[in-house]
Amino acid sequence: MTGPSSLQSGAWRRGACPSLTTPMQTGDGLLARLTPRDGDISMAQLAALAEAAARHGNGLIEITMRGALQLRGLTAAGARALAMDVAASGVIARQGLAVDVNALAGVDPLERCDPRPLAARIAGAVSGSALAPLLGPKVSVTVDSGGQFGLSALKADIRLMAVDASRWAMMLNLAAGARRAFHGDETAIGDAALDLLAALAALGPEARMRDVAAKIADRICAGLAATEPAPAQPVAVPVGVFPTTLGPAMGLTPPFGATDSGALRQLAATFPQARVRFAPERGLLLTGLDEAARAHLPGVADDLGFIRQTDDMRLRISVCAGAPLCASAAIATRPLAAELARDHGATLAAAVGPDQQLHVSGCGKRCGAPSRNVTRLDLPAGVAAAISAGHPDTARKPGLAPGRLSHLSRTLRTLVARHTRGEASDPTPDALKKRP
Ligand code: SF4
Repeated sequence: MTGPSSLQSGAWRRGACPSLTTPMQTGDGLLARLTPRDGDISMAQLAALAEAAARHGNGLIEITMRGALQLRGLTAAGARALAMDVAASGVIARQGLAVDVNALAGVDPLERCDPRPLAARIAGAVSGSALAPLLGPKVSVTVDSGGQFGLSALKADIRLMAVDASRWAMMLNLAAGARRAFHGDETAIGDAALDLLAALAALGPEARMRDVAAKIADRICAGLAATEPAPAQPVAVPVGVFPTTLGPAMGLTPPFGATDSGALRQLAATFPQARVRFAPERGLLLTGLDEAARAHLPGVADDLGFIRQTDDMRLRISVCAGAPLCASAAIATRPLAAELARDHGATLAAAVGPDQQLHVSGCGKRCGAPSRNVTRLDLPAGVAAAISAGHPDTARKPGLAPGRLSHLSRTLRTLVARHTRGEASDPTPDALKKRP
């Protein structure tokens, strides 16, 4: 059972991957991250998590780009109590190697096969084995069934992609820039993935797949057929209505990835019959809603501040945690982003297209920003902003008109100055709840 005795002291440091049992120190206290192991959870469980977030932390809840929950503002004692409350709720937090499957795995009518058995085999083989403590905390595997929510945008050491109902492709980025792709049946691909993880672990806990020599991968994968890497799939925004074998799933996302305990508790209380999955790109996918509930959801989502339409300008902005959540931040990034979307939507729309995103960071570290295909904007010292285009794996460059860029840059500089001086009209997190 996850509880106080299993909370790992001394692990609360920057640079580590936070979890429920190894929370990370941030500007507003400890941060715990959890991914439900079994995919969806009930609304009663969502309410229990939200209540625990408020009882033991500051009630701020984030959904990450990988679809994990982050609960913030915890003390050491609060983190221990949170772990106990999560266990009591029946939510089982994923532990050990991160093996990600699609958000609608098993119920997506467009997926080529169910990715969960292969993912469970890999995670299960590593869990509790001699391999587990040798793998670095950021090592991950994606098992992508090719459905509505592809995993192309997630960084992974081993990327598995369903080719059809029984065959899988494996993509690897290796040492010295070598790239390899192989395909085979599920058993052979699973065997190779585990052997590759063992090879990676042999290089030490800091090693990633990019440190493994191509000749080692070629030897391990000698029984598989070489193929071309699968092209990156478009990234789906988890907002709107999505078909599933359980009926339509309704997708929402909190503005800039953050909501609070009260909003999630209200959502759970209003739709107690639903189940919820957390999706990459900061999504909440609700299933189990009848027609009347689906008709009722948009109004409730608006009242609670969730984004439910793909043309919402807030979807064109991403932010790092910013102040006061990060001690390094020069500004509160979320209120600034909310003001930009609400009051300067035309400027934003002119410079940032539907397939682009403006990322605003509270310092030059640019947490969460894509590393490639970006155009950086000129902002005051201590604050960084960049526009990314499309998917980071694509070769596209942002096609931005210089005049529109400079107008956006000027607008941002003005907003940054006002927020820095404390003159912002709406600098509180409540700003996140207002539609632009
Ligand atoms: S980019 Fe800077 S301010 Fe933002 S979360 Fe990272 S370290 Fe903190």
